[in-house]
This record gives sequence, structure tokens and C-alpha cells, in this order.
Amino acid sequence: MPIDIDRPLVDHHCHGLVPKTLERAAFERLISESFVAAPKGTSHFDAPVGLVIRAKCAALLDLDPFPDPDAYLARRATLGAAEVNRRFVQAGGYGQLLVDTGFRGGDILTPEGMADATGIPCCEVVRIEAVAERVGRSGVSAAGFARAFADALAEAARDAVGLKSIVAYRGGFAFDPAAPTTAEVEAAAGPWLKRMASGQGRMDDMTLMRHGLWVAAELTRARAMPIQFHVGYGDRDAKIHLNNPSLLMDFLQHLDDMGVNATLLHCYPYQREAGYLAEVFPNVYFDVGVILNYTGAMSATILGEALELAPFTKQLYSSDAFGVAEFYYLGAVLFRRALQQHLDRWIADGFCSVREADRIVAMIAHDNARRIYPLDH
Ligand SMILES: [Zn+2]
Repeated sequence: MPIDIDRPLVDHHCHGLVPKTLERAAFERLISESFVAAPKGTSHFDAPVGLVIRAKCAALLDLDPFPDPDAYLARRATLGAAEVNRRFVQAGGYGQLLVDTGFRGGDILTPEGMADATGIPCCEVVRIEAVAERVGRSGVSAAGFARAFADALAEAARDAVGLKSIVAYRGGFAFDPAAPTTAEVEAAAGPWLKRMASGQGRMDDMTLMRHGLWVAAELTRARAMPIQFHVGYGDRDAKIHLNNPSLLMDFLQHLDDMGVNATLLHCYPYQREAGYLAEVFPNVYFDVGVILNYTGAMSATILGEALELAPFTKQLYSSDAFGVAEFYYLGAVLFRRALQQHLDRWIADGFCSVREADRIVAMIAHDNARRIYPLDH
């Protein structure tokens, strides 16, 4: 009896799709976390991610494997964005999508738009720093910032199932884990609000981000939902050496004391550290997310490292798909392939049974996410 690997996935971290036809240059920027063009004379298709798209996605566009990139994009354009998006996401076998709305929201579909486009139930995850930036552009005074931010975050998260922080992108995890005082927040807000008023600013003040995390911690405690942390792999804003999640241990301890769950997203190349943290902190969960897409043919190695130590009850699935529908499909395909490869070997070696393997798949594919996110309300 084979393992039941095709369970509907709860994707606990993904983004909206681009609802229009993508020209080659735009498509290539979206299949690199750099979000910039490949060096002159080269292509992002000549990377593990480009190879796996041509290998595994062509069939869904009715093409043979390994089409020329131009032929691939021409077929995509002929079918149209709506059809392409629907085909890939539906073929991923998803039960529910938890959509992060905090990044380039004007370019991609909202959670409601995603539900309409795919027919899959969608929930929202609200990005803490994006709310702070909105408040920063509202004309609020330094003295009024803390109140305005707390109100705005509670309002933005009214129907959300989680909050997310990108402090990893804006300085990293080596911050003072204590909550800043009211006076410290006001003092930091003054110069930051001036920069925001000039139109140049973004949330990059560590005192205000620490404040944001503590406000978020209180809100997530009250709402019984997790805080997601971007960890590791991302664009060049992510200072990778300061993204090691072990730097977050003291703050994770505070969250644990409060009874708040933390979900560590992506984690590469720190998936082993994330697995360790998931083992030693009752409130820590993690996934390996989009790195499965970016490592393509090598992705089973990374999921294998994630499976080394962490309890099966602490791992989650995410595609971290952004913009292009291929990433929803590939994320699911590569996750299932890697998980099946490892579990089949465990079974062959007598470390697991099909029955136990089915339980492990169910936990990571959907049960763990359903346990820690308020998905039924
Ligand atoms: Zn993401």
C-alpha cells in the first residue's frame, strides 16, 4: 500500500498571483529572489529554478518538457493569465491558502481575488511592518504613534489568521529582545516619522520594530494566532548572517512565556537551526518554503535536513509562491516528492511504516497548520 501523499495542503505562507500576462523580462525577475534581471547575456532560466520550471511545468501548458523559454512564455501568453493561474494552482492540490498581503500589494491579487481566481479558500496574514509604514505616512505625531499603530494593527488584523514580521529584512535578529519603553518609542518615532514624511522612509528603525513585535505579541496572544517570521533566504535586503534564527532565541522565549506560537518561514540555509529550535521550544514551528522551488532537482536534500530532528508536529508546508503560478504547483510537487522519497526510504529501512508515514504526511500537510492557526472561524 503506497503512502497517501496527495493530501490537500494548507499553504500557511504564500502571496498573490500577478493577474496579467508576463513578458519574459518580468517573468524572469519573478523567478529570482534577487528580483533583478540576470547579468547581461545570461538568463534566470539557466538556474535550478529555471530548469525545474521547464522540466515539470511545461506539461501543464500542453508542452513537451524543456521547451525554449520563449516558447514557454509564448504558450503562457496564448492561454492567458487567468487560465495559467487556475491550471497551476488547482494542480497543486491545495485545501487552503494563507496569503501574506504586505508586499507589493498593488501588483498581485488580494486574498479575495485569489479565492475567486483559484476556487480555493483563502485567509489573510497581515505584515506588521507594512501597517507601521501606513501609520508612518498618516501624519501622526511621535507621541501619538504607539496608540495609532496598536489601533491600526488590530483593525488590519480583524479578519486575519496570523501576523508576519520581516525584521529579518530590516536589520536581522540580533536585537534587544526586551520591549522598548514608551519614552524610547516616542524618541525613535520622531526622526523616523520625519523620514517617512519626506517620502523616502520605510520601517527600518529597530526600536520601532521591537515595539511592533511586542504589540503584535499581545494581539496574537489575545487572538490565539501565530506570528510568522521571515528567516533566511530572501532578496538582498535580508542580511543573511543576521538571519540565523538562533539569534531570535530570547524573543522566542518571551513568546513562549506568553503562549504565542512562532512560525519560522523558509529558513534556508538555517533549516537545521530551525529544526533544533522547533525541538527545544514548544511554541516554534517552521517550513522550508520556496527553497524547494529554487533548489529544484536538489530540493529533497533540504527537506531531508528539515526532517532530521524536528518533531513531525512542528513542521508546516508553505509554497511562499509570489506572482507566478508555477511556484504554487512546483512547491506542492517538490514537497510531496521529497517527503515521499524520505518516507519510502525510512519504510524500506524499517524505521517507519506506511501507517506512520501517512500520519507524518497528514501532520505536515495540514494538521499542524490547522492546530495553530484559527482557520475554522
Ligand atoms: Zn513570502
